Amino acid sequence: MRKKKAIVSACLLGETVRYDGTTKKDNNVIEALKAYEIIPFCPEDPVMGTPRERISVINVNGEYRVITDNSRIEVTTALKLQTEKMIEAHPDADIIVLKSKSPSCGLGTTPILNTNREEVKLGNGVAADLFSNRFPGRVFDEYSILTHLA
Ligand code: SF4
Repeated sequence: MRKKKAIVSACLLGETVRYDGTTKKDNNVIEALKAYEIIPFCPEDPVMGTPRERISVINVNGEYRVITDNSRIEVTTALKLQTEKMIEAHPDADIIVLKSKSPSCGLGTTPILNTNREEVKLGNGVAADLFSNRFPGRVFDEYSILTHLA
């Protein structure tokens, strides 16, 4: 019988792929998923490299766009493409576990800014949004997955 499959934010697994070259390794998540086949996922590293400039989600006329903080380059399409590639490669994923608050991975916890770069609410990062649409009820962050599997 095949192991259940979990797509997991790579930084939660200990990979040093955050914008500043650090990790957010979460041993509780790793332990909770030890029976799963783990598929690491990071959409930002292949698009922008590591370390990289910070990015933010900006609400532009109702559309969420991901833009670099200093050079103001839009990376929305590139990040979505990375996520779509992961979904296509693993349509049989059982659960998705994503890092909270990230412009890509945050699940309802990502700061959404207006065009003046003021935080107006919390929402989904671009990857979390695509995963949620494709795998409804099977997407978690590093906190909710522990409750789900307890
Ligand atoms: Fe990569 Fe997502 Fe972790 Fe950011 S939160 S470093 S995009 S895996």
